[in-house]
Amino acid sequence: MIPTKAYAAYDPTTPLAPYDFNRRDVGPHDVQVEIMYCGVCHSDLHQARDEWGGSIYPMVPGHEIVGKVIKMGTHVTKFKEGDLAGVGVMVDSCRVCDHCKQQLEQYCVEEMTGTYNAMERDGKTIAQGGYSTQIVTDERYVYSISPKLDLKAVAPLLCAGITTYSPLRHVGVTKGTKVAVAGLGGLGHLGVKFAASFGAEVTMLSTSPSKEKDARELGAHNFVLTTDNEQLKKYKGYFDVILNTVAANHSYKTYLNLLALNGKMIIVGIPPKASEVPAGTLLSNRRSIVGSMIGGTKETQEMLDYCAEHNIVADIELIKMQDINGAYDRMLKNDVKYRFVIDLASLK
Ligand code: NAP
Ligand code: ZN
Ligand code: ZN
Repeated sequence: MIPTKAYAAYDPTTPLAPYDFNRRDVGPHDVQVEIMYCGVCHSDLHQARDEWGGSIYPMVPGHEIVGKVIKMGTHVTKFKEGDLAGVGVMVDSCRVCDHCKQQLEQYCVEEMTGTYNAMERDGKTIAQGGYSTQIVTDERYVYSISPKLDLKAVAPLLCAGITTYSPLRHVGVTKGTKVAVAGLGGLGHLGVKFAASFGAEVTMLSTSPSKEKDARELGAHNFVLTTDNEQLKKYKGYFDVILNTVAANHSYKTYLNLLALNGKMIIVGIPPKASEVPAGTLLSNRRSIVGSMIGGTKETQEMLDYCAEHNIVADIELIKMQDINGAYDRMLKNDVKYRFVIDLASLK
């Protein structure tokens, strides 16, 4: 067993607190990663506070994990000691279904195993995430990271990065596509960077007037304050694609009205409450709503390689593990620029 220090949520309402536990020993196909940095995703907060229901405690959140390989199983081929490596939102899947065979393991018909708030496939062990000093994961679900990039700013690519990269690619965003990104947080700021780097005309849809300057610096060509009806009117029927990253309960209708003929709104944000979809708004302009969940193992590695080639990383604020509860409070006030990343040296 591998002794591991961590921070855990013990129930939905009390602040996260220290937690010591053991990781499994390194199996033949496993890689042990000493975690150096872990991003703080809004999904961590949703699950720690049981906003989606069914949370499993104690819960060590964190699925934007980067660090150094310190041990490998005998059958590991992709990694050697000292390599930089990352672990994202899933750590296992059935591996034999049609979706797993296509390396779309996030849609495994028997459900992927989440990095935390999930039971491992042995049915006995609670999977625990990256607010911790060590992780042991089958190499299929571990990614290679280029030493060219700033490692702490790479961490958020493992969830926020792939979650925005994958659907923008899937719907074919390219030069000149009119893309709007709703919500300038962790996902949103990477969505803007990717859409701009694919050559799209990018518009930020935000509720925070103070974020306009940053949005433009991140690559947005236009900025729309969605609380101002006059600004919204100008973009009625305009966008080919809206990437909706909003974490809080909201009405989809405001955004759907902005879609052009055959426009698509991609839902990646997971607010606790469902939104109504008015039929009339959807029918006009033959609009559609699609969903997308992270990305599979093949595409996650492709995204990381794309980022190394195009010098794309997250804009981050580095925090100590002990600061996590304050970071959650700030995230709820939309006050993150634009991703908190935990320095795990603070736990060692
Ligand atoms: P975040 O950093 O908190 O950003 C969310 C942004 O939403 C805020 O910064 C804010 O941007 C906007 N917002 C907040 N309240 C709003 C409201 N009432 N109306 C409109 N906009 C509002 O969160 P995140 O880490 O990017 O995560 C976003 C969501 O994606 C979460 O629900 C998370 O669980 C989900 N997620 C899904 C996947 C997936 O696989 N699909 C993966 C990761 C995360 P402005 O200040 O610009 O308005
Ligand atoms: Zn996430
Ligand atoms: Zn499967």
